[in-house]
Amino acid sequence: MKLKTLAAASTASLAALALLTASGMTLGTASMRREVMCLFNLVREVRSVMELEVHMLSHERESARAALTQRPEHAHAREAAEREMRRWIEELRENPVTADNADAFNAAEIEVERYLATHARVDERAPPSTAALAASARETDRAYAAIERLLATKLEEAQVARGRVDRVSTLSNAMSVAAVLVLLAGTLATLWQISRCLYRPLLALRAAIDRYGAGSHDARAPHGGLDELREIAVAFNEMAAALAEQRRKQLGILASVAHDLRNPLAALKLTVDRLRPDRPLPPEEQLRPMLARIGKEAARCDRMLTDLMDVARIEGGELELRTEVRDARELAREVVELYRPAATAHELGLSLPEEPVPLRCDPIRIEQVLNNLVANAIKYSPGGGAVQVAVAREGAEITIAVSDRGVGIAREDQGRLFERYFRAPSSGRVASGVGLGLWAARRIAEAHGGRIEVTSAPGEGSTFTLHLPGQRRETNAGVRSPEES
Ligand code: ADP
Repeated sequence: MKLKTLAAASTASLAALALLTASGMTLGTASMRREVMCLFNLVREVRSVMELEVHMLSHERESARAALTQRPEHAHAREAAEREMRRWIEELRENPVTADNADAFNAAEIEVERYLATHARVDERAPPSTAALAASARETDRAYAAIERLLATKLEEAQVARGRVDRVSTLSNAMSVAAVLVLLAGTLATLWQISRCLYRPLLALRAAIDRYGAGSHDARAPHGGLDELREIAVAFNEMAAALAEQRRKQLGILASVAHDLRNPLAALKLTVDRLRPDRPLPPEEQLRPMLARIGKEAARCDRMLTDLMDVARIEGGELELRTEVRDARELAREVVELYRPAATAHELGLSLPEEPVPLRCDPIRIEQVLNNLVANAIKYSPGGGAVQVAVAREGAEITIAVSDRGVGIAREDQGRLFERYFRAPSSGRVASGVGLGLWAARRIAEAHGGRIEVTSAPGEGSTFTLHLPGQRRETNAGVRSPEES
């Protein structure tokens, strides 16, 4: 899983849960409100019925007083009570009447109207007859009974509504608790997923890096968690493996350099032993080859140490180019002349153009490259033969090619010749070396804006060609160029 996917999935699931919880709570609150409003209306209706009953009592009492005393204030009070009764009847009619209590309300209204009509008739005939009083009492009882039935219906409905409110409240509470639990579970699941895919692999990676930093070079990071972390772990492990391989190679190189230095040093020691001050000097014809041998072995040691020092310099970016314009023919000639006395088994040839070949370069470094190519040509053609150095102009480029008729290099090894510490199995057996000369030569050529190419065939020989720009062109491939002359 990718980090982006985890972030999107976590955010989306938490947002969905929050939305679900909020909707559940809103729904619960809305139904609760609806039920409470219903209960509130029913309470108002109960109150209206009770008000109706109270004013009917008042009407009855004032009617009786008016009949007994014939005083106008009682008649007024009775009329006021009648108005109130009608007002409360109107109030009850306005309230939403359910199918259940519609009958009870209609019955109550009819009975109340009858009661009022009967009382109006009784009032007109003052004093009232016993029969009229009895009829009026019957109407009154019936009206009270109808109002009581209406009241009972309303109370019953209010009771039912209260039950509903209780149920909705319980349901709403349960829903809230469930929503909170689901939200909590969702959050925990998201945190667990984040910890599984991100946090724990990150800690494991960090622990591996710490272990590696503390010196345990076999520490490797586990491949787990998000794709990005897995990629980092893979990259870290590859880097650790590459460093281990490099370390192994470096130790091998050190051992092989020590071993290779032993031979020239042993030869030097033996020769120098014969020249000890307490011994007579050998005759000149013996002395000269001995001195030549000393020079050759010292040069071998010097070459190996120079290669190793160059690596350190180039790696540290400390190799400086001190450029000047030199004739490429001169550089080639100097190198050939340097090797000619020692390479007695080889025919060193030079092929130079007639015209000067001006080249802006660091002559010491270019000579180092040519030294390396010529030394290799001699070294890897142990049977002797021609070693040809040819300078030419090819368009805007200047080329210096070094050819030999030596052991050659297998095609599959040619691409790796310029790698650090690489020695071709076929030619590496022929002579000792470190595998750094060509690597340094390529870096120097690149620092001049050039390159080295190789063509070779096993058993037939090789040609290494240094290509350099005819016009000044420098790059900084790990090399500084502080000065131009
Ligand atoms: P070294 O010569 O010290 O091993 P170099 O970097 O100069 O290191 O060369 C790298 C490898 O390239 C050599 O070990 C050898 O196998 C191969 N090589 C270089 N020059 C030649 C050559 N002229 N003929 C055959 N093999 C060569």
